[in-house]
Parts: sequence; C-alpha cells; structure tokens
Amino acid sequence: MLFPYYIVASSFFRVNKFTLNILAFAVPLFIGLMLIEFLVATHKKLAYFNLHNTIANVSVGIAERLCDILVTAGFFFVYDYVQKHYGLLNIKPGLLLWILLLLCTDFLWYWYHRLAHEINVLWAVHVVHHQSEDFNYSVSARITVFQAFVRTGFWIILPLIGFPASMITTMLLIHGIYPFFIHTRLIGKLGILEYILVTPSHHRVHHASNDKYLDKNYGDVFIIWDKLFGTFQKEEEEPVYGLTKPLNTYSFLWQHFHFYIELWLGMKAQKGFVNKMKVLFGRPEHFDASLREEAEAIFHIKQNTEQITRPLNRYVIWQMIILLTSLFVFILFEQYFPISLKIFFTISVVLTLINCGAIMEQKHWIFHVELLRFTALLLIPLFYNHYYIDLVAMVLLTAVVVILPLKYYSSLESRYLQIVYKTVRP
Ligand SMILES: [Zn+2]
Ligand SMILES: [Zn+2]
Repeated sequence: MLFPYYIVASSFFRVNKFTLNILAFAVPLFIGLMLIEFLVATHKKLAYFNLHNTIANVSVGIAERLCDILVTAGFFFVYDYVQKHYGLLNIKPGLLLWILLLLCTDFLWYWYHRLAHEINVLWAVHVVHHQSEDFNYSVSARITVFQAFVRTGFWIILPLIGFPASMITTMLLIHGIYPFFIHTRLIGKLGILEYILVTPSHHRVHHASNDKYLDKNYGDVFIIWDKLFGTFQKEEEEPVYGLTKPLNTYSFLWQHFHFYIELWLGMKAQKGFVNKMKVLFGRPEHFDASLREEAEAIFHIKQNTEQITRPLNRYVIWQMIILLTSLFVFILFEQYFPISLKIFFTISVVLTLINCGAIMEQKHWIFHVELLRFTALLLIPLFYNHYYIDLVAMVLLTAVVVILPLKYYSSLESRYLQIVYKTVRP
C-alpha cells in the first residue's frame, strides 16, 4: 500500500516502476561530507575526530533516522488534522507565505531550543545533542526521536495559524538540513553572513562549556532571534566542547537516558508534589550535579580504561558500515516494507547500537545482547519467507535458533568474549 506516498510527497519519487524515498541519499551525503571534513582535518594535522566519539555520534543518528521513519507519517496526520479542524487561516502556498513559514519555523525553533536548555524535563531530551566533546559534522547526527516529539509539540502552532501540513513537512525537511553545515571547526567566520545566519562560529559557541558561552546562540537558521532576545555571544576564545560535567561513557543507552534517571532521583529526594514539580520544571544549572554519581552507581556505569584493541575497533567499524548501508537501503525502499518488518529491523539495529557502545567500553554482558540480535536477525527471513518455508519448518528452525544457544550458552559466551576482547577474560 502506498499510503504515505502523498504524505511526504516531497521526499518520494518514482524511478521506473519503483517508488523511492530520496531522503535515503542524506545518508551517503552525510558520510561523504564527514569523510571530506575528516580528510581535510587530518591533512592540516588537526585532531578534530576521535574514532569512538564519532561512532557514538553516528549511532545516535542511526537510531533517530529509523525511529523517525516509524513516526513521520503520524506527525503529518497531526498537523493535517489540527490545520483542517482548528486552523485560523486557510493558507495556500505562495512565495511570501513560504518566507513567512520559514521565519515562523525558525522563531519556534529558537524558543523550543531555548526552553530545552532552561527546563529540566526538556533538557532531558536535548542533552544528548551536547554530550560530544568533539565538534565536527558527526555531532549533527546527535538528535533523538524524543526530541522530534517535543519539537512537534512546538511546531503545532504552525497548523494552528493555518499552514497546511504539506507545506510544514517540506519546510521542516529544509530547516532540518541546514544545521548539518554549522557543526564544523574547519570553517572560520563568514563575513557579512555572521550578521544574518547562524554560522559554524555561532554554533561552536552554543556547543561550548566555557562560562561565557553557556546558554547562548540558540538559533537554527537565522541569528536574529538571539540578538533580539539577548542570548547572542560572539566566538572569541577557543571553545571547550561538551557538557559542563562530561559523561565519559560511550554507552548508547546511558547517553539517551542518564538525565531521566537523574531527574527521577532528584524528584524522589524531594517531599511533596510541588517540590517534585520544581525539580522537573527547574533549570538545569540549579540541578544537583551529584545525582549523576548516584545514578552511575545504581547502573554500574564507569568507563573502561583499557586500551581498545585494533581488531575490536575493526569489529565495531564494520558493524557501523553494515548498519549505514542497510539504513540507506531501508529508507530508499521504505514503501515496500510492512510495518512489522520495520519494527523488527529497528529493534535489531538498536540492539546493534547498544552492543557497539558496550563493546567500546568492553562490557561482558554484550554477549546476551548479541544473542538477542542474532536471534532477531535470523527470525526475520523465517517470518517473511512464508511462501517458501512451511509452518512446520519455521517452528523447527525457530526452536533450533532459540534452544541451541541456550543449551551451549556458557561455552558460547566465553568463546565469544575471547574472540571479541582477546586479552580480556570473562
Ligand atoms: Zn542546544
Ligand atoms: Zn548543534
């Protein structure tokens, strides 16, 4: 069924007899530009890239792209429903209205972004974008699907004004591409553009943890809002990137959820509903930073200090290459996959990302996740090839896939850990 075909009409194209989602090409474009940036930086002997940080950044982006595919159509329906039922005006596309929509979108982004830095519960979804201690194109991938939900809440004002959903989704695509280009240290100041647009220089300030740079330059495309509302700061001394209290872990799950856990601990420590709400809606700079250690102790989070061996690096890099290739193919042919397969695939990918983060920290529990992923991947063809494999064969194969590893669990586990970590014993 080509149901979302008309929805994001701007991103679906017919090539011969195939309907392709051209948004897929964002993946090779992103990788290509990142590689160019890496090569230029290396040529200039500038250490702008750390392998494991880059993998952690790209991992966040892969998960977001996949989850986004599952929810984008839903966002369209929300905008469409709101505009048709509650829209104040009935806006038709026209040049001036496109410009107006761009300004409105950017203005709403400014406030979404500013509040995401000023209110704990919103910071919990945005903090992931700021965890990287490097600053390069890979950081632009550090967006989570939770952020997409919060942003949609802010952008609901657009259909309320009367902008049609097709205009909004097209604008959000364009507006979503721009920030990629401002995550780089290779581009200096851009002359006159510095007065109008958000430039790499402005965004470097936004990602810095130097005192004078904190909570500045929230804009996405235009810098005018920061100048108007008093949050503008010029780039002067060299920025120090990352959080004021660095996370020091590559754990995929911890990066996504640590602040929710800290928030929960903070609320638990308070008595009474009002005080708990004060924690939830308070400002991140007033938040009790020691709760991080408490949360880390509960979940046994500490970074492995052992050197990561070259074969281990290669193992993780190959997983990333396979993931990015399959992500490209998956988005390109998105139309042809049933929703159940999309969910199955997303789960397998997320398990792989959890695994990659855990491997970089040399955790021993990765074998359990590895087995889950292996089972999920093996079951996909079994469930979707029902034309060729009859039910009995399917049940038998499923039993073999599930039971065999259980029977030889411990010997498989020690063998796996020996292969992956080599020098580290379980
Ligand atoms: Zn931010
Ligand atoms: Zn950024």
